[in-house]
Amino acid sequence: MADNNITNGRMPVIESPTMTMRIASFVADQPASRVIFGAGSLGRVAEEVERLGATRAMVLSTPEQRGQAEDVARRLGERSAGVYSEAVMHVPIETARAAREEARRLHADCCVAVGGGSTIGLGKAIALESALPILAIPTTYAGSEMTPIYGLTEAGVKKTGRDRKVLPKTVIYDPELTLSLPAGISGTSAMNAIAHCVEALYAHDGNPIISLIAAEGIRALARSIPVVVREPGDLAARSEALYGAWLGGTALGNSSMGLHHKLCHTLGGAFNLPHAEVHTVILPHATAYNRDAAPEAMRAIADALGARDAAEGIYDLAVDIQAPVSLRELGMPVEGIERAARLATEFPYRNPREVDYDSLVALIGQAWHGVRPS
Ligand code: NAD
Repeated sequence: MADNNITNGRMPVIESPTMTMRIASFVADQPASRVIFGAGSLGRVAEEVERLGATRAMVLSTPEQRGQAEDVARRLGERSAGVYSEAVMHVPIETARAAREEARRLHADCCVAVGGGSTIGLGKAIALESALPILAIPTTYAGSEMTPIYGLTEAGVKKTGRDRKVLPKTVIYDPELTLSLPAGISGTSAMNAIAHCVEALYAHDGNPIISLIAAEGIRALARSIPVVVREPGDLAARSEALYGAWLGGTALGNSSMGLHHKLCHTLGGAFNLPHAEVHTVILPHATAYNRDAAPEAMRAIADALGARDAAEGIYDLAVDIQAPVSLRELGMPVEGIERAARLATEFPYRNPREVDYDSLVALIGQAWHGVRPS
């Protein structure tokens, strides 16, 4: 008997007299990292650096997280070559060049990146040129540690690419390090991770394992993040959120992102809007945009959220965690809506529903006002 409820929306559906073929064809080519997860796992950093065969690790962080980086350097003892705490958002090329120079000066043979996407991104900029192995210790939910994607910003324009050299060899997920992540940043960072899962579920090049990972990622994040935001010191909730972030990063690293990520990159770059907040605001509207074109993905998202509808469920989650829901709150000028729609239609990412200018003006307008998608 045909079971239409389990058809994977992005695959060709082949009917037979007895069953609907839901697993038609796919390519799965997943580069792997060694992952060590659990409260207190930072204690294993020295043995993990040794396992990489490294003796001179350069420890990276933002200026704000220098204390955490110094703690890591202390744990590494003589395997630490020094701390470099100059990471900033979106990896400006000047920062990348200075960090590469410092890695040469220190004769570093490994980078240990302690922080969020900005710090891990700086490690990737070094690895891109030198192929130094990266050990990542993520402290947000952005997911960069699980991807071969790098970004560099030159003259105000951020360019991204994929290269397996930059995928961290080892990742230590220690939820204790996320206890200090402020509630507001935790909420939007988790929505960023959910966005990776949502787009992986309808990606043209996804596969069944990634779909399972993505759905479980949404489930874990939606369950944990309201608790994290209310009780930032709850270690059980922090563990579950970080587990969701691992899954979100894996989904991002192994499938191509669609309209949602395109819009976020465009808006972030054109109006200098904060990364995780833009993801939070756009996600319900990008999901609603794809509602009819990716019905199976929508069902999986709604199920994982425990909601009736995927887009509404995402919006309600953002409201519940008191995250921003409008571009207006983020400081985007209302006159920017048409420019953003034009930019996003110039080189669109592949997306379940075709992307056109007028529909994007409507989508961005809804996001600007922050209305609940219906
Ligand atoms: P971030 O790394 O910029 O961190 C935000 C702020 O929070 C920083 O000041 C940081 O020091 C601080 N912080 C981080 N963890 C903390 C903690 N546990 N306690 C206290 N403070 C903490 O933010 P992000 O959202 O993780 O990263 C955003 C950047 O990462 C963007 O440039 C984005 O494009 C990039 N990114 C890249 C990928 C990829 O696959 N290449 C994936 C996701 C994001």
